[in-house]
Amino acid sequence: MTPDPRKAQLIIALRQQGVRDTRVLEALEQVPRELFVEPAFVDQSYADQALPISCGQTISQPFVVGLMTDRLKLNERHKVLEIGTGSGYQTAILSLLCRRVYTIERYRTLSRQAGERFKQLKLENITQLVGDGTRGWPQQAPFDRIMVTAAAKSVPETLVSQLAVGGIMIVPIEERPGHQDLFRITRTETGYDSEHLLPVRFVPLVEGIAKEK
Ligand code: SAH
Repeated sequence: MTPDPRKAQLIIALRQQGVRDTRVLEALEQVPRELFVEPAFVDQSYADQALPISCGQTISQPFVVGLMTDRLKLNERHKVLEIGTGSGYQTAILSLLCRRVYTIERYRTLSRQAGERFKQLKLENITQLVGDGTRGWPQQAPFDRIMVTAAAKSVPETLVSQLAVGGIMIVPIEERPGHQDLFRITRTETGYDSEHLLPVRFVPLVEGIAKEK
């Protein structure tokens, strides 16, 4: 297959917009986003926009995936928790940059489809769970990094408690209806520090496992 020229253009644009970590840019280059989008949207795989996926959810915009991953400051020894597997695109990017990703999705259908993609790409350091991500994954805690890809109403304290001291969480928070902002939370000895990154738009973080037909 000939490489899509729009992919190279997109990577250059993301770098100009502040995705600086070379390893993150390489991961974005390496993961075929076309594999994670719905067939009807394949020709828009390398446009910088979110796209609809099954179960009324969305695959995040490449810029947001790049920026969130960049600001997570990952290294190859890290154990990472992701909330909201969705298409699995963000999971695949994370998996190239850390030791292991634990990812939770509340829709069984999405989790299964993502799992098929991981298998196809031979990504073997991903552990999936169908469940309620607001509870985190206590059996596997503490995590060095946590990435939340759905908007919480406030700082998710349960997830903060599953971060190692010095650990970082990136989380979108909707403090007022319709207004979401991305925050970087750093766990400290006594609590956590919080830093505002930028306004964003995510589907909501919903408690409980989804009911499916
Ligand atoms: N990172 C994904 C983004 C998917 S959208 C991607 O790049 O494709 C966010 C996902 O979070 C949705 O699939 C939604 O079902 C899931 N989600 C929302 N609340 C959740 C919860 N409490 N636990 C687990 N997953 C949740």
